[in-house]
Amino acid sequence: MSGLMLHVHGTVASPGLAEGPLYFLEDEMIAAPTRAHEDPGLALEAALARAIGEIAALIELTADADAKDLLEFQIAMLEDETLLAPARAALLSGADAKHAWETAIQQQLAQFIDADDPYFRARCADLEDMRERVLRGIDGAVQRRIPPGAIVVARDLVPSRFLETDWQGGGIALTGGSAKSHLAMLARSRGVPMLIGTPAWDSTGHSEALLDAETATLIVSPDPEVRLAFAARMKQARQDSLSSTELGLRPAKTRSQVPIKVQINIADARELQGLDPERCDGIGLVRTELLLRTRSALLDEEGQFAAYGAILRWAGGKPVTIRTLDAGSDKPIPGYTLEEGNPFLGTRGVRLSLANPEIFSTQLRALARAAALGPLRVMVPMVTVPEELEAVRALLEDVLAGLASRGVAHRRFELGMMVEVPAAALTIETFQAAFFSIGSNDLIQYLCAASRDLSGLAALQEPLQPAVLGVIGAVVDYANRAGLDVSLCGDMAAEPRCVPALIALGLRSLSVAPVALERVKAAIAEVP
Ligand code: PEP
Ligand code: MG
Repeated sequence: MSGLMLHVHGTVASPGLAEGPLYFLEDEMIAAPTRAHEDPGLALEAALARAIGEIAALIELTADADAKDLLEFQIAMLEDETLLAPARAALLSGADAKHAWETAIQQQLAQFIDADDPYFRARCADLEDMRERVLRGIDGAVQRRIPPGAIVVARDLVPSRFLETDWQGGGIALTGGSAKSHLAMLARSRGVPMLIGTPAWDSTGHSEALLDAETATLIVSPDPEVRLAFAARMKQARQDSLSSTELGLRPAKTRSQVPIKVQINIADARELQGLDPERCDGIGLVRTELLLRTRSALLDEEGQFAAYGAILRWAGGKPVTIRTLDAGSDKPIPGYTLEEGNPFLGTRGVRLSLANPEIFSTQLRALARAAALGPLRVMVPMVTVPEELEAVRALLEDVLAGLASRGVAHRRFELGMMVEVPAAALTIETFQAAFFSIGSNDLIQYLCAASRDLSGLAALQEPLQPAVLGVIGAVVDYANRAGLDVSLCGDMAAEPRCVPALIALGLRSLSVAPVALERVKAAIAEVP
């Protein structure tokens, strides 16, 4: 018998509508066979190996670059002797495998929770995920599969479990959770509706629900008429997304037929899988920090050349703008970036590249070789003064001369710059750049002295405030007068409410995350 209809309210972490059977994650009772006879050290090793194997298999199945990145992080952690040392010590003093593993993971968790670096704080969920996976391995327990299309009710859900699930129109309702978590990010990028922060509710007798992640409500055991009205809304939403798909294939134009270039931002060639190049006007930003990071090492010249080549092949003749390494601050590369008290104001971007001329020359060489394969241009992040851009140009000249003297196929590419440091934006006419790309994420944080990783400062990071619009407008004005190409590739370009203001400032080129393409084109079509 089904229970009485119940409305449970939460907060939307990923928008959309879903309908399906309820699946209560906390009801999963994992049978734990006793394995007391086994050597605890061997049991732990076997569980670690099994966990690594499971995660590696998941990486193979995952197309999403961010998701792969977090899974690769988990494998690196499971192989890290520093993490395992407390477990080995506990085993020596007679602990069983579970206890030893808990000891190690708790110590690591404590360090991550206390870390100054937000990158590590954000990785606590990954540690919890690894903790559970290895404990299951020690128990020899098999995790049940979440049924396809289910609405999962839980306190929280670990990212790898999300990736293992076939969502097929299902959704998630959590009593815990955070809109800034990896899980929420994955749910948004996969279009899986998700609510967080619902109150706990009595699930007795309930087996089905509608998830309305537009009005932030989980409707449990819906009445027939509520179900009918919801089905009509789901149908309408499907039709809307179909017509926005058609819009996505057309070049963007305002109502008065002003063409606006809409390009995409990527961090990994894998993000291009399944994406039709016809939906965009090329790639406006390739962030190479992730592309060039294989666990802790930087890709060599051949590896980089192959990666850039794959991106140019996908673009099939459309322009591609690759940014040189912007390592540092919120994009650390272990073994390369420096530990600094205030990393956002530290040795990041072009500052770090110029301090490591060999690594930088390798990247410039790979880029010059790739430029022979298609319309590639290159831009430099975090430029503050003209001397930095000139130092890059001098290094590039050496690289080009070296390639020419060895008879290696290459092409001189246009050298542009990100405009994201206020000092550069305010003296833009002093830079000899071939083109400009405005990085509103950093520009806003530096202009307003409000760290981009602190959501509590959202009011100060408002992109439409006069100071921000004034600086962007001045850069666009100068570029338009000088006949230089100017685009904006920060998150502001992906916010439909900001699009009219950017076009009014004279911008005719935007670059946004692939998921935002359609909504930005729709917003442009509404601009008078
Ligand atoms: C920016 O700062 O707006 C930008 C696009 O660069 P990133 O977000 O990679 O710092
Ligand atoms: Mg930036």
